[in-house]
Amino acid sequence: MTDAYMTQERRMMQESARDFVTREVLPVANELDPIQGDMPMELRKKMGEMGYFGIRIPQEHGGLGLGVFEYSLIAEELSRGWMSCASIIARSGSLMHMVGWPMEKRIELTQRAAMGEYLHAGALSEPEAGSDLYGGIKTRAVLEGDEWVITGNKYWCTFADGADVINVLCRVEGVPGRGIRSIMVEKPRGELPKNCSGSPIPKIGYFGWKTWELRFESVRVPKENIVGPVPGMRNHSQESEDAPRRRTLAGLSVPRVHTAARAIGLARGALEDAIEYSQERVQFGRPISEFQETRFKLARMASEIEAARQLMHHVANEIDESRGSDKDASMVKWFATEMAERVTSDALQIFGGAGYTKLHPIERYWRDARLTKIFEGTSEIQLRIISDQLLGKPTDRDRLQ
Ligand SMILES: Cc1cc2nc3c(=O)[nH]c(=O)nc-3n(C[C@H](O)[C@H](O)[C@H](O)COP(=O)(O)OP(=O)(O)OC[C@H]3O[C@@H](n4cnc5c(N)ncnc54)[C@H](O)[C@@H]3O)c2cc1C
Repeated sequence: MTDAYMTQERRMMQESARDFVTREVLPVANELDPIQGDMPMELRKKMGEMGYFGIRIPQEHGGLGLGVFEYSLIAEELSRGWMSCASIIARSGSLMHMVGWPMEKRIELTQRAAMGEYLHAGALSEPEAGSDLYGGIKTRAVLEGDEWVITGNKYWCTFADGADVINVLCRVEGVPGRGIRSIMVEKPRGELPKNCSGSPIPKIGYFGWKTWELRFESVRVPKENIVGPVPGMRNHSQESEDAPRRRTLAGLSVPRVHTAARAIGLARGALEDAIEYSQERVQFGRPISEFQETRFKLARMASEIEAARQLMHHVANEIDESRGSDKDASMVKWFATEMAERVTSDALQIFGGAGYTKLHPIERYWRDARLTKIFEGTSEIQLRIISDQLLGKPTDRDRLQ
């Protein structure tokens, strides 16, 4: 299908990602997902060499300097192989906004992030803070001398062990606004931070890395590790005063588009596998692709995927052109993730009993698609955001103004 957004450069990028996923991601996913194995460092390194961790990091800091469009393009391709690989590229990013850190440190870590060598985990959710994140946060950061002392329980922190730094959302006294800020807890890769204990949550999918419950018991980090201006210090950064707010606003939309891309990649994987299987599997003397119900299922699946992809391309482009809205980002997140659950389930149906085994990746696409409706804001929360806008009620964006 013609897609006005797909320039020649983007097509080339897509083709090379498709080839990379077939060669490097799919075989690893097929081997490790059924045994709940972690993503190998070797694969991460190869993704780094392809530039996938630095898609949106400026070229002067070692990235590709591209936009949300290219980021979603690659996320779709990686997710077609293994959703965790599409997710881990969201764990890198520029650290130039860490205004309390010396410039050399910010540049060095941003360059490492662009290669996938300095990645973060996000400890936002808590046992009582899920959809109502800002209302429910209980983890506190208290300033003692030159250090923040962090105490509280976090839930659902994916990659807490493998990350180089955990971005911990805390209630902080004495900062303007709602008093909630992120604090960066640096740590050795492969371990939890000092004074932090935890255990992996027995999830039913999203393998390739572990998702943790964590207990922070007076975890100490330097005062400068707070994201945004450091309370009590003059802002020496070259960022405008408005930069943290703009970053927070962008931070609401981009993960939703990224999640849509992950959902579309899963649905496409399921469709492609179902097409192949339906042509091989013979019943009643004919390939099952000859039966009208199978053919129509495939047709509906392909149409739904294409509709979601076109919307994603449009919304990603709008964000790159600084026209994106929360409503658009929520629409594509909701539409693509609901679509992915339906399409992966239909694909599993085409596989019959074989689909309900670990002998084919179809079950992985189905399990992982189910999650896309839950994280980065549940489907119900997306519908709330969209309807808030339709009804002229205050939105997340308004609340942050
Ligand atoms: C595998 C996995 C990995 C995750 N990784 C991370 C991570 O790395 N870091 C992190 O911080 N978090 C992570 N999360 C947490 C995730 O973001 C939350 O699960 C999600 O935000 C939903 O919160 P909750 O699970 O507490 O559900 P709840 O908020 O308790 O929601 C339960 C149900 O109530 C509905 N509901 C809630 N409020 C409303 C409302 N106002 N209107 C209508 N319906 C409503 C929800 O839609 C949902 O159906 C992860 C979750 C999973 C499952």
